[in-house]
This record gives sequence, C-alpha cells and structure tokens, in this order.
Amino acid sequence: MSDSSAGFVLTDALDAEIGHAARLLRAARHTVALTGAGLSVESGIPPFRGPGGLWTKYGEPPLDGYQRFLRDPREHWESRLRPVEGWAKGLRETLDRAKPNAGHYALAELEREGRLASLITQNIDDLHGQAGTRSLLEIHGNARLVRCIECVARYTRDQVQIDPENLPPHCERCGGILKEDTVSFGEPIPPDVLRGCYATCERADCMLVVGTSATVYPAAEFPYDVLRRGGAIIEVNPHESELTLALERATAHGATTLSLRGPAGAVLQRLLHHVRSTSGPETSA
Ligand SMILES: [Zn+2]
Repeated sequence: MSDSSAGFVLTDALDAEIGHAARLLRAARHTVALTGAGLSVESGIPPFRGPGGLWTKYGEPPLDGYQRFLRDPREHWESRLRPVEGWAKGLRETLDRAKPNAGHYALAELEREGRLASLITQNIDDLHGQAGTRSLLEIHGNARLVRCIECVARYTRDQVQIDPENLPPHCERCGGILKEDTVSFGEPIPPDVLRGCYATCERADCMLVVGTSATVYPAAEFPYDVLRRGGAIIEVNPHESELTLALERATAHGATTLSLRGPAGAVLQRLLHHVRSTSGPETSA
C-alpha cells in the first residue's frame, strides 16, 4: 500500500468502529465525501499547509494572486511558460508522477456500488478522477485543466493552442480569457462547482471527511450543514484535528459522529470491505 500505511496495525477497536461506519453508510440515502491534502500525502504529494507543508517551508503565494492575474493576464501566462525551478519544479514533477492510492480507489468503488453520491475535494491533483470517481466537485480546481474566467468552460492542456506570441489564450466558446483551473488566492470558487457542492450537501444525510480538518472556506461549512440537519459525520484522519473536537462537541449534543484514526488508504479499503460484507437489513445502523 502507501508509505504512511506501512507499519499501520488495524486494532480490533478500530475495526469495530470501521464496521459501525459501514453500517452508517449502508443506512444513508445520500452520502457525500469531502477530501483534502491528507489523502494525497499517501500518494507522495506534500500538503501546502501544516508541518512539512510547501507554504510553511517556502512562504505562501501572494494573497492577491487573482487580482494580479486580472490586471495582467499576459504577464501571468508568460511567467507560467518560463521554466520553473526549485520547489515549484519539484511540485510539478511530483504532480505529474503521482498515482491514486488505495484510498482514492476505495472511494471510487463506493461510488460505483451506490454508497457514495458525490465527492467534494480540495485537492488539485486529479487523482480522484484518475481513480474513477465520476461525480466529482474539485473546489480548488484541477492542475491539469484550464478554465475560462467568463463561462467556466474547462479544457485540457492539449485542447488549447498556447501561442507564446499571443497571450493570454482565449476561450473558443465565448472568447473569454483562459486561466489555469486551480483557484488562486483572491479568486472566487468557480460558481458551477460551488452550486454543485451546495446541492449535494443539502441532500446529504451522511458525510465522509477524509484527510482534512475542513477549516478552509467553503469546505469548512459542509460538515456543519450536514450535522445541523441531523446527518452523520465519519472522519478519517490519522491525526486529531479541529474537526475532531467539533465532532466530539456535536456528539455530546446527540449527533452521530465517528473519528476513524488511521491512514486513509488502509481505513477506506477496510471500510469498503465492511460495506460489502455487512449483513442484515439496510436500515440496521
Ligand atoms: Zn468561455
């Protein structure tokens, strides 16, 4: 499996909790997954924030990145076409090389088997799509795509003719300016994705939160929306997070929450196993 799963031992106590989570999933009518950097760490992609994070080490990108883009999109594209160096080069190579891990595949399987309605991710690495997840909402965009800032049409890099003499490239549908799909600081979340997130969260009676403490807007809202409407939250994270503490408080007020402590790949594969093998009526949770 993955590096961070090496040495992981599935205790009976954790396995029993995963079994409980599986029964919640089987009983739910509309489960949404919310994933973050912790999941992709198991594919070798360093997080941006937190210990060992790229921004922690090298400093955050400008907080007005989107405003700078709007002021001079040509300069933005020119700088993107220059060869990158240092950590940015390392990150680009890491993204190109990264492969989905056992956690990504387990989530794609859960969707295929009708246990997951949709998946919201904060990751830009395309690994959920590569693993086969179909109903995918990438709130921070996808590093392999470019997007029209007017009509939000998305294109793969190969679909767009990038002429260094004629930058920025324009949308063939509406003529708008194209930008990389990844959301810059200061840039609104693409409206189609945000609408999709609200629509699916509104229906959710169960949410699986994987590898994220869900502290950054808009992801920070989603678990609490589900809790407010009486839905269940299952957290998968090797570490206690701010979300864990919030879930403990909610549980004290009668909410159904679970925090599964372990690497996402191992825990989600085990969850998939239990969902498939749990017997009894669908509403036995
Ligand atoms: Zn357009």
